[in-house]
Amino acid sequence: MEHTQSVSENAAPLELIKTHCPYCALNCGLHLEVGADGIEGRSKWKESPLTEGALCSKGMTAHEQVHHEDRLLRPLVREGSDFTETTWDEALDRAADGFLRIARTNGAAANAVLSGGSLTNEKVYLVGKLARLGLRTPNVDYNGRFCMTAAGAAHSAAFGVDRMMTPLAELENAEVVVVIGANLSAAFPVALPKLLDGVRKRGGRVIVVDPRRSRFVKPDDLHLQLRPGSDTTLFNALLADVIHNGLIAGEFIRDRTNGFDLISRAMRMFDLEAAALDCDVPADDLREAARLIGSTRQTMYLHGRGPEQQVGGVDNVRAIINLGLACGHVGGPGRGINMLTGQRNGQGGREWGQRCNQLPAGRSIENDEHRAVVAERWGVTAADLPRTGLTYVEILEAAGRREINGLLAICTNMSVSAPDLNQVDAQMRALDHVVVIDPFFSRSARHADVILPGTTFAEESGTITTIEGRVVRIDQAVPPAPGRDDIEILRNLAERFGVAQHFEFETPEQVFTEMRAVSAGGPVDYAGMTYSRLRQSDGLFWPCPTIGHAGTPQLFTKRFATEDGRAHFAPVLETPPPEPISDHRPLVLTTGRELAQYLSGNQTMRIPAQNRIASRPVLEVHPDTATAARLVEDELVRITSSVGTSTVAWRANPDLRPDTLFLPYHWPECNRLVAAHLDPICKIPAFKYTAVAIQPAPAGTLGANELAGQDPASVHTNETIRT
Ligand code: SF4
Repeated sequence: MEHTQSVSENAAPLELIKTHCPYCALNCGLHLEVGADGIEGRSKWKESPLTEGALCSKGMTAHEQVHHEDRLLRPLVREGSDFTETTWDEALDRAADGFLRIARTNGAAANAVLSGGSLTNEKVYLVGKLARLGLRTPNVDYNGRFCMTAAGAAHSAAFGVDRMMTPLAELENAEVVVVIGANLSAAFPVALPKLLDGVRKRGGRVIVVDPRRSRFVKPDDLHLQLRPGSDTTLFNALLADVIHNGLIAGEFIRDRTNGFDLISRAMRMFDLEAAALDCDVPADDLREAARLIGSTRQTMYLHGRGPEQQVGGVDNVRAIINLGLACGHVGGPGRGINMLTGQRNGQGGREWGQRCNQLPAGRSIENDEHRAVVAERWGVTAADLPRTGLTYVEILEAAGRREINGLLAICTNMSVSAPDLNQVDAQMRALDHVVVIDPFFSRSARHADVILPGTTFAEESGTITTIEGRVVRIDQAVPPAPGRDDIEILRNLAERFGVAQHFEFETPEQVFTEMRAVSAGGPVDYAGMTYSRLRQSDGLFWPCPTIGHAGTPQLFTKRFATEDGRAHFAPVLETPPPEPISDHRPLVLTTGRELAQYLSGNQTMRIPAQNRIASRPVLEVHPDTATAARLVEDELVRITSSVGTSTVAWRANPDLRPDTLFLPYHWPECNRLVAAHLDPICKIPAFKYTAVAIQPAPAGTLGANELAGQDPASVHTNETIRT
């Protein structure tokens, strides 16, 4: 651990611990100020990579969670409808016994593990290993299934790996930036809006593809305010136009890609005018966008959850990739097709084996060569490794059918984050044995039989892989308040599952050392990274195969990571939504982030400053739509979908399409409305398209603030918790 010192107001020396904000994937660097009583505050880490000490309000208050009065400090076990404190040994015994009993009676696959994108790489690795070797279940997945899997599947198929290909600082060399379905103002408020300002100041252009106009969009930007669900059609139209106008990168296509001829033939049939009608975007705007994009090699694409969280999510991303490939926008300065990872360690979370189809270091669980390598490095046989299991939503659905009976949930809050929440509560109730590891009592913990208090970001060391694919270190600032950290909990469970020999780790660095060895030669190679190298540098980008290797900030300069070394085009067409808008439900609900809150709010909703900014869900409605629905200012609105009804506050937003509504997903009122429709390839839920109707809420209806259990902080005391 590296220590520097500062002086507090009363002149007592404070230790400054370098770490990174625990919320989004930018991982803004910060110093935690540690005094005799623990964390006393935070200060700027001005030399931190990319963000140089800047923080949004969430990052400024993140340290307040560490000593928060709501922290779970002692293990809890269910006694009827109450939770009672107990010893670690008793809680761990009950946790493990439940899973072992289920495995004996119903088979190993009747247990499942769901985890979160906030975990350090070390914990991700251990979660996957514990599921495969300890529980011997194929059913392990994480909440990145809700955000990054469409991007991941599309990039892996086209390029061979899924990682941001061009570092964000390269925006300084971009002439055109295309931002697709990403609200940079709310989701990435630090660094990205400023980098876009730099592009504009240099005379570059920003093109935004989004049904909603967010604050980062400026008057001179070209905003393609497309109809929700028409992303593939829009990008096909742009591709058809660049081909038609000879703006493609012929040499690049010939030397470095496969499959262009097929795409090119298909695009000849494409009618831009018809596409413009379908997308509800002026045809001239599409032509202007195609001209801007195709007239320079220095175009960067930043795609977020807008095109991805749909039933055609993978195809939407492939359509973006097709356009970028055709124009040669990869593999160099100022150009790249970049996914914007959302959660803190959403990138590392999809590298280290907590997905149902994946082994550590980006290896495939169905690839026999990959299985053999991991088995050999784990000291087991390949036959010991389960095959592909169920994804997140499929695990919950299997629980509802009583095909899965035991669930270990680690820092994931399905009772807010998963689609179709009315079903999720029923599915969770159907489980025989639920064990939750979390620093705070979450809505999902209401269903637990055993709750093991987890670790906050300041109480552990480890590594995180940022939005860019940069591996950075976090350092422990204070000891874990509950007395043991998450790695110890996982090891304690492994001991009880009879696989202690595979979990002989005392420190996160020891786990990382094993991970490096397991990753050597794999698709995601960390072998050359060490904790001290990570601290001495601005972090290291994978692949980094040897100690002397400088890391790889820019991917694909000479070859792609596919077997043939070439990038792959794939023809795609728009996938219609399973439940399109109709006379009965004529509006499209889209969901996303509120700047002040994070994911299910289990941390940020406990922090007063964040709640002062955003304390409840507010539906955004175009003023014309509000008038047509006879909504009344300062009164509530009722939203009805095919699976649920919610009553919330609303506000007019003229920057939305009139046929589109927006609701932040941090409160259960949102996902209660979203059906569990999944992309068939990657199984991401279609959070961005729900057909709904709105009407004024009947007088006397309870609003979101008054609904029981709304505030997670109100659910928990440290003594006994009544469900
Ligand atoms: Fe940075 Fe994201 Fe944390 Fe805000 S929430 S400080 S943008 S890492």
